[in-house]
Amino acid sequence: MQLYKNQHIKIYNSLTGKKEAFKTINEGYVGMYVCGPTVYSNVHLGNVRTFMSFDMIFRYLKHLDYKVRYVRNITDAGHLENDADVGEDKITKKARLEEIEPMEIVQRYTVDFHNVLNRFNFLPPSIEPTATGHIIEQIELINTIIENGFGYEVNGSVYFDVHKYNETNNYGILSKRKLEDLIHNTRALDGQSDKKNPQDFALWKKAEPTHIMRWPSPWSDGFPGWHLECTAMSTKYLGNQFDIHGGGMDLKFPHHECEIAQNQAAKGQAPVNYWMHANMLELNGTRMSKSSGNYINPAELLSGKNDIMSKAYNPNVIRFFMMQSAYRSVLDLTDNGLLASEKGFNRLMNAVDDLDNLKSSNTSSFDVKAWKQSCYNAMNDDFNTPILIANLFEAVNHINAIKEGNTTISPEDLELFKNAIHTFVFDLLGLNNAQDTTEETDKLSGAVALLIKLRQEARANKDFALSDKIRDELAEVGITLNDSREGTTFSTN
Ligand SMILES: [Zn+2]
Repeated sequence: MQLYKNQHIKIYNSLTGKKEAFKTINEGYVGMYVCGPTVYSNVHLGNVRTFMSFDMIFRYLKHLDYKVRYVRNITDAGHLENDADVGEDKITKKARLEEIEPMEIVQRYTVDFHNVLNRFNFLPPSIEPTATGHIIEQIELINTIIENGFGYEVNGSVYFDVHKYNETNNYGILSKRKLEDLIHNTRALDGQSDKKNPQDFALWKKAEPTHIMRWPSPWSDGFPGWHLECTAMSTKYLGNQFDIHGGGMDLKFPHHECEIAQNQAAKGQAPVNYWMHANMLELNGTRMSKSSGNYINPAELLSGKNDIMSKAYNPNVIRFFMMQSAYRSVLDLTDNGLLASEKGFNRLMNAVDDLDNLKSSNTSSFDVKAWKQSCYNAMNDDFNTPILIANLFEAVNHINAIKEGNTTISPEDLELFKNAIHTFVFDLLGLNNAQDTTEETDKLSGAVALLIKLRQEARANKDFALSDKIRDELAEVGITLNDSREGTTFSTN
């Protein structure tokens, strides 16, 4: 029997502000859409956290035997500065700064995005569609919105008529904003804009002559508005209505609000049953921002090449650190936090290694089934990974007590216990045993030890030219030899 029939998830739905029992549209199937990255720069660590939360959710849904179609898009058509309808397309801007083709930018940062996610052991989504691959669908969608009376064309650009829409629908249903307040809080149009009202948003923008990324359309050579691509692609791959739509908290308004409006306007249906929003990642107690210098990117965090952290961190430690916080909580990234997570992660992994050497007894002195269900209960409660991890540390205590002979476990329970721990640690939290990086370090140590030995032989033979060459060339690749009375050690930087 499928696990989801026994394990009942509750999801905090941003739309209703409540935790609700998760009921899928089609039994056994889940359609999940998550807004992906705009590929005009290296992926932000805060976005990595958001995608990691949905990776964990994807893993858990699959584990419960749901057939999950997980769609996470790549925004490669560029979207406009400040998510507004004016200003420059981010990808085109970057392309001009770097004097390369926009699609070169797209390729470079898509590759970077995948590389980073691979290092953190992400599962690939079921479909990863691109905005530029769905221009036809977006044009069709705009046509429908215009036909239904919610879009209008001015000078080759098409806008969504928010005021008209709000007469029969509720613009602000997700973000809990009221159109009257939005009107009150925005400046009047300065005459430069073609929009009827400042709240209207672009569905299609006519391209300026200098704009490189452009496609023909019934209205002009131009490009689609950012909000539109997600509606076009989610509808195409998941249908007019689907189960879960996720993204970062910052996308709730206007992006997700506009997605709802577009779906309602085009299909007359609310697109999503459960809206899920992952919270922000802060750095040392404040918002991460490049301009203030309070910023670290994933590569810097992994390599240790930064002025913020005391050392390089293993991607598993970073993943563990992120999983120690619920996806709906703000998470503060600090060196101390990572050091503590590193200790916890190592403690957990040592216990997992010990599992294979545990001896069983005739009876169990603790209730393994109840422990396992408490792990499920944590995950069923809106994917509460910190509680799951607390349960895993309880298991670590059991493992140590069994080792010391203070607790007993029956052969059947030991099997159950092992399987459950492996499932929760590796399959659901997405951690791995860090074997690969340790192995690499071992190989490096072996190779450098050999070079140190050759250098000592060279010095013994008074071949100082060779001995210096070994030291200097190692230094060039970032390996420093430290000579002392006790011998030579090395460090990497
Ligand atoms: Zn989106």
